[in-house]
Amino acid sequence: MSRFLSPEAQRLAPYTPGEQPRDQRYIKLNTNESPFPPSPKVLEALSRTEAEKLYLYSDPACTGLNGAIAKRYGLALENVISGNGSDEILAFAFRAFCGEGKGAAFADITYGFYEAQAALFGLEARRVPLREDFSLNVEDYLDFPGTVVIANPNAPTGMAVPAADIRRLLERNPGRVVIVDEAYVDFGAESCVPMVREYANLLVTQTMSKSRSLAGGRIGFALGAPELIVDLNRVKYSFNPYNVNRLSLLAGAAAMEDGEYFQACCKAVRETRAWTAAELERRGFTVLPSSANFLFAKSDRFPGGELYRKLKENGILVRWFGKERIRDFCRITIGSREQMEALVEQIDQL
Ligand SMILES: *Cc1c(COP(=O)(O)O)cnc(C)c1O
Repeated sequence: MSRFLSPEAQRLAPYTPGEQPRDQRYIKLNTNESPFPPSPKVLEALSRTEAEKLYLYSDPACTGLNGAIAKRYGLALENVISGNGSDEILAFAFRAFCGEGKGAAFADITYGFYEAQAALFGLEARRVPLREDFSLNVEDYLDFPGTVVIANPNAPTGMAVPAADIRRLLERNPGRVVIVDEAYVDFGAESCVPMVREYANLLVTQTMSKSRSLAGGRIGFALGAPELIVDLNRVKYSFNPYNVNRLSLLAGAAAMEDGEYFQACCKAVRETRAWTAAELERRGFTVLPSSANFLFAKSDRFPGGELYRKLKENGILVRWFGKERIRDFCRITIGSREQMEALVEQIDQL
């Protein structure tokens, strides 16, 4: 670090992204991307004519994209905000709803970005331990006065909580915001989006990075009551008004409109997930029940770090978090059926 680094920046806790190798040597099962290309409709939308318009700023209101999202979920434009990935949306939410004397609560084992953002905004963070079996029990959050953030399904466990549990949280204290991060909801969990009209304190975030094959397009969004969206826009217009670029606006709208392709991709992932979980279990792995596009699994023969390293040596990248409680596990993204067959074969070799 330089001698110019501010004390505030010294206190940051930057997130470590999964490895993104520049070459294609690896079967990449480490960052929960889709194994499928974007919808053909997305490729059609990204024409040369549109690329030529890049000299003009993008629409700061993201009208086309937000409209497609609103339509898909039966909501109004006023219920939607889009961002440069849902990580940005989460940052807007932390800044909008938390601050001095108003912290954030999230699980001890969950998406690492919550921790990073809490540090970025100097927030008090309450880390609420998952239960022994890695389940999240909403009882543990009922009396927390600040903002509650729940990834549903959770990462890296893949385990989901029922929407009825989230409802209890929302009703218990209407004076605080509950953020439900539904990055993986399309792979099998119960979405809280239908509850957006009912609760003024519910904010649901989603992303096109996983189920819509657009990780590189950086498109995330939040759905909530119009007043919450106004608050998020207040932060957005203080930070980066043109936060979604022209091509991503088009790509995101096209991906949203192609429901058929989306359903087919999600179905393929669910089927391959079931197959992979069964194969791993047959080989002595403990596999947590996953509602996401990844499995969190522990071998009875190799410690997590060793499995990660051995797979990497053999061209397969998975994610290992050398962290208390979960160091025996690896998180394995569900790739194509062929990729998962290669994984299982490699495990047999080991
Ligand atoms: C991947 C992920 C996100 C955000 O992804 P973006 O690519 O920034 O949209 C958010 N939450 C969880 C739990 C994730 O795993």
